[in-house]
Amino acid sequence: MEDAAWWDGVGEDFLPPVPDAVDLVIEAATMVSVFAAQRLTRIDAMRRELLREATGRGDGVREIVERSIRLELATAMRVTEYAAGRLIAQAEALVRRYPSALDALGAARITEKHAEILADVLDEAPVELREQLLARAMPLAESEPVGTFRRALRTMVETVQATTLEERHRRAVAQRRLVIEPGQDGMAGLWIFAPAVEIHAIHGRLTEMAKVLAKREGETRSRDQLRADIAADLLIDGSTDHLPSSASGIRAQVVVTVPVLALLDDALAAEGDPATVEGIGPIPLSRARELCGGDSLWMRVLTHPETGMVLSVGRDSYRPPAALQRLVRWRADRCMGPGCSMPASRCEIDHQVRWVDDGETCLDNNLPFCKGHHLAKDNTDWRVRQIEGSGGSVAWTSPTGRRYVVHPARRVPAFTIQSSAIRDAGERSFAAAPF
Ligand SMILES: [Zn+2]
Repeated sequence: MEDAAWWDGVGEDFLPPVPDAVDLVIEAATMVSVFAAQRLTRIDAMRRELLREATGRGDGVREIVERSIRLELATAMRVTEYAAGRLIAQAEALVRRYPSALDALGAARITEKHAEILADVLDEAPVELREQLLARAMPLAESEPVGTFRRALRTMVETVQATTLEERHRRAVAQRRLVIEPGQDGMAGLWIFAPAVEIHAIHGRLTEMAKVLAKREGETRSRDQLRADIAADLLIDGSTDHLPSSASGIRAQVVVTVPVLALLDDALAAEGDPATVEGIGPIPLSRARELCGGDSLWMRVLTHPETGMVLSVGRDSYRPPAALQRLVRWRADRCMGPGCSMPASRCEIDHQVRWVDDGETCLDNNLPFCKGHHLAKDNTDWRVRQIEGSGGSVAWTSPTGRRYVVHPARRVPAFTIQSSAIRDAGERSFAAAPF
């Protein structure tokens, strides 16, 4: 028996690996990806064939033929025509425009959801940039969870388009409006379409006020109900006088990150990263400059050394001082749970090495986690630790021993003062070195 030959050479103590329950799920998910790639390839082939058969009947009928193909697929698969149309569009995108993503799906290196996001987001980018974006997107698609991948890809596309962001934003601002959306049972909705920074500031302020009210004795309204009531009071009466004084003076804080050199010089701005708002994404530089003009509403984090950056308070304080909290949140941008999209501003700050175990309050030991991930970390067999020297990356090890790494959105650079810099002490007087 030739086939058994390899087995003879293996020592008697050799045990083939036994798949555990998670492996069995992964195996099925792998097959789903392989079949998804097959399905898309065959859908595109089907469409091409039916289009070919329809040629010669005049160009004017192309649209009708496309519709007929959509109906053919919808009825055959017993899905809606809309769903069939989506599948056809995805098939065309992956087969024709992003073949490397289709290959990755066929080899189960990415999931169908990753492929869908990739096609949708890249299709929004200018044609001439797609090739370059695809090459940068693939390693992310093959390593990041769906939510993280979508955000990273959007940021990537926004960044290469940053030069046109200014113009696009100017046009978009002209569309701002306030609309009443009729509801049922005597209700209606009020919808404000305005720049994202203002909308987040409104929501943030209402949330802070709702939190204060929720602490009052006998208060039974939910967070949502409180926000709606306060917003209505503010818009109708324009005052918060009836609220306790602790709730009436609240202003929202929105974190705006601006590359400091970009504030000073347009040429440098064109090369660098765009200004971003936590939880929102890139905003036009002109807007960022305006926000940095000195209004205390905005917390400004400049991506350049600031004097007095608090990196550690050691064992002096369990609660991180505000500056350190901001830095910890700014670095992560989101909850550091795998694939989590909760903005860091709404997360709890965790001590990785617990305070009772002599853990310090410092950048290397503090991470933001949403309530759910915080509980999972502290109360289950998941093990979580910050990777030493990584600048904030976190390794999550599952109860079955699988390891996932979550990277922070930003690195906090270490700064050393160069001797030459002392002479021309200016914006460039510090050299940034990676951790
Ligand atoms: Zn989370």
